Order: sequence, then C-alpha cells, then structure tokens
Amino acid sequence: MAKEKNISWDYSPAPENTSHVKVKERYELYIDGKFVKPESAKYFDTVSPSTGKKLASIAYGNEKDVDKAVKAARNAYVNIWSKMSGAERGKYIYRIARLMQERARELSVIESMDSGKAIRESRDVDVPLACNHFFYYAGWADKLEYAFPNRKVESLGVAGQIIPWNFPILMAAWKIAPALATGNTIVIKPAETTPLTAMKLAEIIHDSGLPAGVVNVVTGYGDTGAAIVNHNDVDKIAFTGSTGVGKIIQKAIAGTKKKATLELGGKSANIILEDAPLDQAVEGIINGIFFNQGHVCCAGSRLLVQESVADKVIRKLKRRMETLVVGDPLDKNTDVGAINSKEQLDIIKKYVSIGLEEGATMHQISCNIPKNGYFFAPTIFTDVAQSSTIVKEEIFGPVLTVQTFRTVDEAIQKANNSEYGLAAGVWTDKGSRIFNLTTKLNAGVIWANTYNKFDPASPFGGYKESGFGREGGLHGLNAYVKLR
Ligand code: NAP
Ligand code: MG
Repeated sequence: MAKEKNISWDYSPAPENTSHVKVKERYELYIDGKFVKPESAKYFDTVSPSTGKKLASIAYGNEKDVDKAVKAARNAYVNIWSKMSGAERGKYIYRIARLMQERARELSVIESMDSGKAIRESRDVDVPLACNHFFYYAGWADKLEYAFPNRKVESLGVAGQIIPWNFPILMAAWKIAPALATGNTIVIKPAETTPLTAMKLAEIIHDSGLPAGVVNVVTGYGDTGAAIVNHNDVDKIAFTGSTGVGKIIQKAIAGTKKKATLELGGKSANIILEDAPLDQAVEGIINGIFFNQGHVCCAGSRLLVQESVADKVIRKLKRRMETLVVGDPLDKNTDVGAINSKEQLDIIKKYVSIGLEEGATMHQISCNIPKNGYFFAPTIFTDVAQSSTIVKEEIFGPVLTVQTFRTVDEAIQKANNSEYGLAAGVWTDKGSRIFNLTTKLNAGVIWANTYNKFDPASPFGGYKESGFGREGGLHGLNAYVKLR
C-alpha cells in the first residue's frame, strides 16, 4: 500500500533541560533506612534506550540482600509501623507525596532518560498520577474503618512488590501507597532496565523521615524478584508484569500463607461503532496504542471498527499517524519515544515479521527513525483474522491490528475472544449502547468515548490471564488487609 504523503511540518527541537537532574554514578540498595552495598558486590548498568549509553551502575541484590530487606521490613512492621495510628501513617504518606511533587520535574526527566518514554508522558501523566496516588491513599490511612464498615481491619505484614519497566514510578506508587496506608511494610524490586526513579523515590522516602525498614528497595534481575517471592517471611506478593512470570509466581506461592495480586498482560479491544464521533475516536486509538510506544498493559492494541465506517476510520487514522513525532524522549514535541530495550525491540520486530508471514497488510508511518537507540515506527496491520498471532498475542509495542465487524454482537464476541481481559474501549454516540457493551465485555476496565484515562480513586485490574486483584481506589485497600 502506498504511503500517505507526510502532512505534518517539522518542529524545531525543544529538548528538556537536564542540568537540574542529578544522576549518581552508582546506586546502592536501600535497606533498613540505609543505602548499602550488595552482598554480591556486583553492579549492572542501566542505559538510556534512546542513546544506548550507560546512565548509572545499579546494585545487584541477591537472596542474602532480600533476606536482609525482609528482616528489616518485619522488624519495622512488628515494632513501629503496625503499632502506629493511621493518622500518623497518613502524615508520612502525605509528606512523601509533597516531596515527590517538589521534585516532579527531576523525576519526569529521569523517567524519560531511563525508560525512553516521551517527556510529555512522564511529565503530564506518570509523575502527577504517582503523586496523586500517594495523596489519595494518605487520605485513607486514618479512615480504614469507614472503608470497611463494621469490620475489624488488620494489615497483612510484609509485602513483597515486583514491578515492570513500562510505568516505573507510577507502578511503584500504585504498590507502595496503599500498602503503607493499610499498615504494611515493604520490600520492592523495580525492573532491571528502569531502576532510577525507584532509587530517587528511595531518596525521597529517606528524606521524608519514614522509619527505617518500612520501605526497602532491592534492585536486581528476575532472580532478585524470585528471591522475594520465595522468601518464607513475606505475607503478600503484589506483582505487575508479564503473564508468563505471573504464572511462575502463582505456582511458587501455591499452598503458602502468601496472599497475592497479579496485574498481568493484555490484548485490549478498542471498539468503534458507526455512530461514534470519528475524529475523537481516532484520537482515542492513537492515545490507546501509540503513546508510550505501546508499552501499556491496557493498550488498545486491537482495533475493532464497524464495517460501514471502516474505510473512513482507517483513512483518518493513517493521516493522524503521519503527524506523530517519533524521536528523542526528552524533546517536548515527541509523541513516540524510544522502545525500552533492545530485547523489547527484537520482540516487536519478531511479531511484525510473523504478521507479514501470516499474510497481513502492514502500514508504517514515513518518519525518520533516529539512528542510535531503539525506536520503532507506529505500525498498523489490516487483513488480519481472529486467529492471527498478532491479534492473539501481546506485542507491547506501537503496533495495532485492525479488524471489522457488522453487528454489535459480533464486536462483543471478537473482543471477548482473547486469553486476556484487562481493558476495552467503546466509542458510540448512544448511552444505551455503552451500557449494553460494558455489561457484556469481559474486561476489568472499560472506557467509553475515551481511552487510557486513570484516576487514583478508580480500581484497575484484569479478568482471565490478565490477572486478579485490583489496584487503585477502595478496592486497592482490600488487597493489603485482613478483615474480621
Ligand atoms: P516481566 O518480565 O514479567 O517483569 C516484571 C518484573 O518481574 C520485573 O521486575 C522482572 O525483573 C521481575 N521478574 C522477572 N522474572 C521473575 C521471576 N521469575 N520471579 C519474580 N520476578 C521476576 O514483565 P516486563 O516485561 O517487565 O513488563 C511487561 C509486562 O507487564 C507486559 O506483559 C505488560 O502487559 C505487563 N504489565 C501489566 C500491568 C497491569 O497492571 N496489568 C501494568 C504494566 C505492565 P527484571 O526486570 O529484572 O527481569
Ligand atoms: Mg534504563
């Protein structure tokens, strides 16, 4: 298919200032209120995916470090945190939220440097939402009896938390804030490619005066995560990541006292009905799959569009895609930043070649891809079937598949015909259609006439292989308490 002519104009570069940002050469583990060297004496590099250059050395925490962290967390739980009133706990959480806000610009820049996501996203979405999560849960800390009326609320103990690389600081906030509000102590492991904002958060937590051992940050690889999962003095595992690792964790904790919440992968359908406001819907498609490079668990990676408007929507979508700015994550004009790692770029490329082998038609935008670093042009595939690999499996990149449907029932069937059930989008002019679809779609989150909108007060989580348990809102408290 011929490429549409580039209808955008070029902006002058507008790089974000990085002179106010301090990235140390080396980061240690944060255990028991101190920054300590790892038992392994080993360090690994975190790199900037947009340049491929090293940003800092990060401590590799092994089983012994995890054990130290769990002991510190247990000690802090038994002696301090579980005895403290909710109002006092709330004060610390508010303080963390305010310190994060004060350092919001620095956190955003570091997030974009380390993860490759566009500064517009980290500055306007990730960091403000992360602060809001702390503010929101700080407010619950002294009101748990109202959250669960007529029940006695008890904390669980030590929570082991493992997070992915796509929303590093936001996922840390989703995990840490509700656990602290409900009186638990924490050992958290960030992803190996994006540890920097977690270490900045450790500095903020330290500056907040939070008692030693209440939050411990242990960096490392997958085996560091496994050491947390397998430690016998952890009461709760909160994991966000791939369905594959989620299954390993579920097997590992089967039959133990450990409670778990798993937030896993997705292959979410964005459904456009013929009466939808089409220009708005096109923006929703773009926002759903191309922003944040498609590194979004709830990305609207499967577009389902009603046949009568399909040609029009695809034409509008291609025109809008041409205007996307792909490039330097630190440039304020950038819409689509760098792919998080070489490994992830290879996965995306592998899926694209499978799509072509299976006979799908590919359309990519005609942008200049930077020579250094890991980038991928926004891509759509038409002529796909429900059985196509690229329709069934999570790609986790800026790649959209487009299918059509004739009736609403067909759209529901196609949307639900997936191993996953994380999110969905519905675009229509009619409220009755929204209610019909939202009650029949098997997805934890359903947006109507919008996509990828988040609020600390609303719960998030999946059905089927997208995991179980909810984060955010009142439901997010539930995951960290015992009710009597
Ligand atoms: P991943 O490979 O599963 O890794 C997630 C985290 O688990 C990382 O910290 C990883 O450490 C660690 N880990 C790896 N192997 C482990 C093991 N055997 N035991 C314990 N921990 C282990 O996932 P990812 O590639 O980083 O993230 C992408 C996935 O996350 C996608 O599938 C996406 O859909 C999902 N996700 C879901 C949500 C949601 O809310 N449902 C949100 C965001 C992302 P290393 O980094 O060191 O390998
Ligand atoms: Mg990195």
